This record gives sequence, C-alpha cells and structure tokens, in this order.
Amino acid sequence: MPAPNRASLRPMTVVTRFAPSPTGLLHVGGVRTALFSWLYARRMKGKFVLRVEDTDRERSTDDAVRVILEGMQWLGLTADEGPYYQTRRFDRYREVIAGMLTAGTAYHCYCSKAELDAMRAGQIERKEKPRYTGLCRERTEPRAGVPPVVRFRNPLEGAVVVQDLVHGAVTFQNSELDDLIIARSDGTPTYNFCVVVDDMDMAITHVIRGDDHLNNAPRQMNMLSALGATPPVYAHVPMILGPDGAKLSKRHGAVSVLQYEEEGYLPDALLNYLVRLGWSHGDQEVFTREEMIAAFDIHDVNKSASAFNNEKLMWLNQQHIMRTPPARMVPYLVAQLRRLGIDANDQGLLESVIVAQRERSKTLKEMAQSSRFFFVDLIKVDEQAAAKHLTAEGLGRLGQVRECLAALNDWNAAAIHTALSELATRLETGLGKIAQPVRVAVAGVAVSPPIDTTLALLGRERTLARMDAVLPPKAA
Ligand code: GLU
Ligand code: ZN
Repeated sequence: MPAPNRASLRPMTVVTRFAPSPTGLLHVGGVRTALFSWLYARRMKGKFVLRVEDTDRERSTDDAVRVILEGMQWLGLTADEGPYYQTRRFDRYREVIAGMLTAGTAYHCYCSKAELDAMRAGQIERKEKPRYTGLCRERTEPRAGVPPVVRFRNPLEGAVVVQDLVHGAVTFQNSELDDLIIARSDGTPTYNFCVVVDDMDMAITHVIRGDDHLNNAPRQMNMLSALGATPPVYAHVPMILGPDGAKLSKRHGAVSVLQYEEEGYLPDALLNYLVRLGWSHGDQEVFTREEMIAAFDIHDVNKSASAFNNEKLMWLNQQHIMRTPPARMVPYLVAQLRRLGIDANDQGLLESVIVAQRERSKTLKEMAQSSRFFFVDLIKVDEQAAAKHLTAEGLGRLGQVRECLAALNDWNAAAIHTALSELATRLETGLGKIAQPVRVAVAGVAVSPPIDTTLALLGRERTLARMDAVLPPKAA
C-alpha cells in the first residue's frame, strides 16, 4: 500500500478575496460580496485578501479606490493580505503570457479588425453564434508589420463543470467557448486573464463573487488548468436588486458605502442587514459581528436575489444602537458631532449621553443632532417651543424649579428627581408640566431624555445659567 499523502491530510487553509474594480464607487452590492468572503475566511480561520482590479485605466478613478479602502476600514472588513493592485503586477502577467506562448497554451493572432468583422458578419448571416474561429491557432509565420494579440488556446472538446456552491453544477461546453484574448496588441493583459493569474498566485481557494461573473468561470477554470493550477471553489452569489427588480445600481440611488457612515449607520448594522440578504440562520434577525462569523456558511447562501429595503436597515441600526456597548459607539458619535462643528472629548459624558439617547435615536446622526445641547456652551432656544412652554405660567414654574434646584446639595439624577417630584406635589401639578419649561430652557427644544438624567448630565452650572437666560431678570 502506498504511504498516505501527508499534504492531503493537512486541512486546507481557506483563502478568499474581494476583488473590486474601482470603476464606480463601492456600494452595498459590492460590500455584500466582500462581507461573504470576509465572513467565510474568518469562520474557517483562513485568510482574506483585498485586490483592486484597476486594469481598466480609463474607467478607474482614484476616488473609487479611496472609497474601497476607507469603506473596508470603516466596515472593519480587515484584509490579511493586500491591497494588491493589478496595475502593479503587469510584469508578472507578461511573464505568464510568455510562458504560455512557449508552452503552446496561448498563441499569437494577427487577424485584423476588418477580418474579424467579416467573420462575425458571416456567422450572423448563417445564424451561428458569433465567435472567433481559431483561424490563427495553427499559424506559424507572423504577419509583417502587424502587432498581434495573444489568445488562450481553449480546449476544443469536452465540457467544463462549475461546481458552484450557490448554483450547483453548471455545465459549459468547450465548443461554446472561443479563444479568449489574454493580451492586447499593445501587450497589456486583459481582465479575465489578470483574475486568473492573481487567483493562482494568491492561492485563492474560494472565489465568492457576484453571479454576473458566472459565465467567466469556465474560461478562468480552463486557463488555470492550462497553467497547472487547481481551480478554486466558486460561489456566485445573487445580486442585490433595486425596488424595480433590476440589479441595484446608481440609478436606484445606490450610493457610496461611505454615505452610510455619514448618515449615522453603525458598520455592524449595515453588515447585519447585508448578511441576511440571501442567507438566514433560523429566524434570528439581529447578529453581532461575532455571531455572524460563528453562524455564516457560504454553502447556505441561496440563489434568489433580494431587494434592498431601507426601512429594515434603519430598524436594524436602531437595534444595534441599543445593543452595542456605549464605549464602542463613542468614536462614531464624536465623528457626527464634529460634523456639527462640535469638538467633544469627555469620554464619560459621551457614554452617558449615548445611554440616555439610544432608545430615541435611529441613527447616530440623529443622536448627535439631539445631543448638541450637552456639548455646547450657548444654545439657541427654538421659537415655537418657547412660545408653547415658556409662557407666563411656564416661566413662573421655571422660576420655582430654579430655586429648588439651586438649593440641592447633591447634583445627581436621583436627587433631582426627588426635588422635582416634591415640587410638583407642592404645586399640585404633574412632573411633566414642570419638566417641559425646564427642558425648553436647557435643551432649546421640547424633547430630550428624562429631565432628571438630562439635568444631571448637563451639570448644575449650565442648568442654572440656561434657566437664568430665559427667566425675566430679578428685580434688584
Ligand atoms: N473585479 C470584478 C468586479 O468588480 C470582480 C471579479 C472577481 O471577483 O472575479 O466585478
Ligand atoms: Zn487570428
């Protein structure tokens, strides 16, 4: 009996990659494939590679690259390797092409555009599928003065079966696949070829990508085999659809992923939303990042496309705001406050404000707006709120509240609560009635967290000063 092959007994390390083309700003559709690749690598304790497919120099932009890098960082989809850039790997592609020409798995094609057009016209006329016929496959002599392209010598017979984890076995006949151009006449490599060399060099074991690439898989597998590499496992995940049922795109207002940061979404909420499109785990809706990693399996992703739903995302965001430890949300609130021109750095106050506000905030942007008054010296009192609550009666009550608060020894929520309740009893009115004028005076608006918490967080000095600012001056 032959000795067991040790290599095959070693568990394979899973290596996945996210390979965006920076031709448009990264949006939620791309983020979802990135998330699936990242999750699967984390789940399998493997590696996640980031690769920027920027060979289309005309359509690639620096801004799109920036959004990929900043977006992945904001989302916490950290790469173990990369970012690699295809434009920096041209020497390597040229090297592989040269090797294929020598090995005969690729050949020079000298056909002119006019010849190819005529070939195509004839095929259409005969109702055949337009394809390159392989005219130059056996050519041995160059054509003088014509810079050739390089084509891959695709097998003529047999079939390629993509064992897709989402779609099952998908069979392609080699007779349907013509000889792909892998280098243009100026020597630059083409897209499908770069993907192949990269997946091989980066030892990718699982290619998880949008199902608009399913048709590229058989050609890529053939090229990998020609290069002596084992093709990876493929999982072509369904695209996200817009409300009209078409693939989600800019037309649907699919915005840069960074827009979600600006709008005050938590990265974990967005990821939670995206993981549930096409994947489920019992009837669990809310997942922490750790729970996603523990439960996710690419084998369980289903092939029906799902439509993007902003309300559900908003709901999940609120759920995550409620559940995330306040300290972890501080940086996000700080960033939102900074956008409002506020430099907040009191960690204790920030955490307490988050606790006080989280039940009433759907986004961190909303939280920052309604928490502004905690962090500024001077507030502006809303005119409508003042007209409603700072009436003669309201101001009368406010004066009494001020007096009783000024006499407090301890400034904390419990003491404030007791003092205000006692005052309400004495005035034979409800706590709400005396809280509203106070709220308008200190927050500038008629909504805030519970009044005792609000005043405790504001501090005695600010509370009393804001009351004084709206109260009529005392007669000397
Ligand atoms: N660069 C391709 C895209 O952005 C993805 C290619 C791949 O994942 O193989 O659509
Ligand atoms: Zn040719």
